[in-house]
Amino acid sequence: PQPDLDLASLVRTIPDFPKPGIQFRDITTLIGDAVGFAESVRRLSALAAVQRPDFIVAVEARGFLFGAAMATAMGLGVVPVRKAGKLPGVTIGVDYELEYGVDRLELHEGAVLPGHRVVLVDDLLATGGTILATAALMQSVGAEVAAALFVIDLPDLGGSKRLEVAGLACETLIA
Ligand code: 5GP
Repeated sequence: PQPDLDLASLVRTIPDFPKPGIQFRDITTLIGDAVGFAESVRRLSALAAVQRPDFIVAVEARGFLFGAAMATAMGLGVVPVRKAGKLPGVTIGVDYELEYGVDRLELHEGAVLPGHRVVLVDDLLATGGTILATAALMQSVGAEVAAALFVIDLPDLGGSKRLEVAGLACETLIA
């Protein structure tokens, strides 16, 4: 464990990606650093373990990187939530609003069952739309969302406030 490691120093900001005016937080430098990645996963797993989840639910695509590593560290399975059309089996989906238009997230039917307790994981919390849609998907199959965990929060985009209003417990490693 490296409790003093400054994870924020391993994340870089790329201006004007994917569109002009967006300051994209790039986590590839964090996961490319062996100590930084291991420490991120250790901190996320410690936050998740408190919740005693049955599964880690990871959000496409960067959430997979952290969620899969957490699941093995915790001795749990990982359930992917994916963009529409990517999962091969029968799916359950939820539509959610983007800045322009709508998008859809899907889950394999039967991957999470009524009464299962899950922790949601993604790399970054911005407006909260993605994670609230994921939480709605879990609730639609009767699962209990114990918490949502992120590596990075961008509080100016209001996601953490929206999660608080929705009653979804949320923790982040870097704010
Ligand atoms: P939200 O739905 O909270 O507005 O956006 C969060 C989702 O968009 C996450 O799945 C996250 O991976 C992605 N995202 C938005 N902005 C960034 C960013 O600056 N850096 C990274 N790594 N992901 C972002």
